[in-house]
Amino acid sequence: MSLQNPFVYADEKFADLQLLRYQVKGFDNLSLRQKCLVYYLSEAALWGRDILWDQNCRYNLPIRHLLEAIYKHYTGDRSRQEFQAFTVYLKRVWFSSGIHHHYGCQKIMPAFSEAFLRQAAAQLPAGSLKLPEGRTVGSLLDTLCPVIFSSHILAKRVNQTDGEDLLLTSASNYYEEGITQHEAEQFYARQKAAGDQERPVMYGMNSKLIRRPDGSLAEDTYRSGGRYGNAIDHIVQMLQAALPYAENERQRTVINTLINFYRTGDLHTFDRYAIEWVADTESQVDFVNGFTEVYGDPLGLKASWEGYAYFTDAEASTRAQKLSDNAQWFEDHSPINPAYRKPTCKGVSASVVTAAILGGDLYPSSAIGINLPNSNWIRSEHGSKSVTIGNLIHAYDEAAKAGGMLREFVIDEATLQMVNRYNAECESLHTDLHECLGHGSGRMKPGVDPDALKAYSSTIEEARADLFGLYYIADEMMLKLGLLPCKEAYQSQYYTYMMNGLMSQLVRIEPGHQIEEAHMRNRALIARWTLAHAPEAARMVNRAGKTYVEVTDYPALRKAFGTLLAEVQRIKSEGDYEAARLLVETYGVQVDATLHQEIRQRYEALHLAPYKGFINPRYKVQTGENGQITSVQVTYGEPYDQQMMRYSEQYATLL
Ligand code: ZN
Repeated sequence: MSLQNPFVYADEKFADLQLLRYQVKGFDNLSLRQKCLVYYLSEAALWGRDILWDQNCRYNLPIRHLLEAIYKHYTGDRSRQEFQAFTVYLKRVWFSSGIHHHYGCQKIMPAFSEAFLRQAAAQLPAGSLKLPEGRTVGSLLDTLCPVIFSSHILAKRVNQTDGEDLLLTSASNYYEEGITQHEAEQFYARQKAAGDQERPVMYGMNSKLIRRPDGSLAEDTYRSGGRYGNAIDHIVQMLQAALPYAENERQRTVINTLINFYRTGDLHTFDRYAIEWVADTESQVDFVNGFTEVYGDPLGLKASWEGYAYFTDAEASTRAQKLSDNAQWFEDHSPINPAYRKPTCKGVSASVVTAAILGGDLYPSSAIGINLPNSNWIRSEHGSKSVTIGNLIHAYDEAAKAGGMLREFVIDEATLQMVNRYNAECESLHTDLHECLGHGSGRMKPGVDPDALKAYSSTIEEARADLFGLYYIADEMMLKLGLLPCKEAYQSQYYTYMMNGLMSQLVRIEPGHQIEEAHMRNRALIARWTLAHAPEAARMVNRAGKTYVEVTDYPALRKAFGTLLAEVQRIKSEGDYEAARLLVETYGVQVDATLHQEIRQRYEALHLAPYKGFINPRYKVQTGENGQITSVQVTYGEPYDQQMMRYSEQYATLL
């Protein structure tokens, strides 16, 4: 008799982070051909790792090389406190793909001394640290130590503070040092003005903006033979290896067009790739690979690199498909100005997928839903593809069950019981509504610049999608489609959403800091706006010295969400920058210091980690005599530090 070990979801915990594992359920049911495709797409997703590190800050890669060399070769006492602090720092830097917090963007401050680092570096065996030409370890340390230890230098990866020069004050590496926000905005305004107004490419998306010797600005494009060329060549090699295993002709075209884009850096080719990718709804195995999300650029133009391979979970996809099939009904009944509804909702494809690998900006911290492409005109003319990542959501749920967060922050036993009963279903459904319908809904007023909301566009867009989901999760249509078990189930989502936006998400913010991240800003904005405008629906109460959210009228809360959705859609459709700024700055940014302190104390008593990320599985290939792959196996259990060290060695592409 053999006992199957239960899959262990939770792995190690340090600082404010916890590593989880996800199970690639269903991998064994794929055909060998599909497994080969997953394997090569996974490799392609891992080869771009160094790109993201360099995009996040120009010192990240040399710092990582230095830290990893010490981690590997340190001969002193590894149990001593400073080495332990060094290890935690390195693990945090790995998690963030750089020296800034992956979510809060502030610099991670080490708890070991500069003297320790210098001493450890001085003892490195010769040749264990790859140095750029003409560099000594000493001169390298003189450059890196201030970056690591001073809280003032490159303090924030992405600065969104209203009124400051967002480029000069951000540490991310998308614009050469010294280029001002005004210069960059002018540069791209000229590109936009000169280009196709109806079908604009994603200007600036795949380049670093640099200054020529004569002072003028130019783009250093990410492409084969250009910036990040070595990493890109390796990605291309893996995409080529994947080609023979493509599931159909269309997918072959998708991969070929992407290869072509990587070779040329041509943004029109990228748009063609995106259009082909959206059209491929047949393939069971699918992927994201490239310069994708713009959260890392304070101006919202430049895209960080990410890679991701997955396959469809047919059973779970039924739910998302029901929403997609009714996309037009939802659009027609949306509580927004009819002029901003989409007359025809096209190709809102949605599915639940199983992640096979996470790479770049999706590793180790990952989104649980993806909706691409980001180009507005492609979305409205060709639709978008939306996926919910089922096995990651499952891993989160399993880890949260052991938590205790809800017990601490939910107001009373009756509400807690309701939340425990419906939370999982409601979370998945809200994610589906957000991704499948929310982002794809609405339309722009003709002639409005899609980038008019500038630094506020990400927050407004997330608010729009969340509000769409909140409004409709309470609709009778959910019961009709069989997506919720009863009329009251939605109340679980309303309660936890308000609780999160007003209180529990604040555990992720350091004392004295403001809310920076777009999704967090959006949740605060929605919850606080509602509190201010619909006092009859919800309020904050104090019970036995603890603050709670009390929802007093759920239908009134729904009405408020609908009103705000209409306003947020208007802001987006009309490109009303001033209204966006006012809404976000008034409701989405500030933190009440007293409440913040209370929440952090209550949270700390639970001993939980507010951020979670994932350790990847490993794919092992066996080949026959002729070199053909005969099997692909997925294995788990690689420790976090070993995985990171292996990636740094195996997928090193940039110095
Ligand atoms: Zn979203």
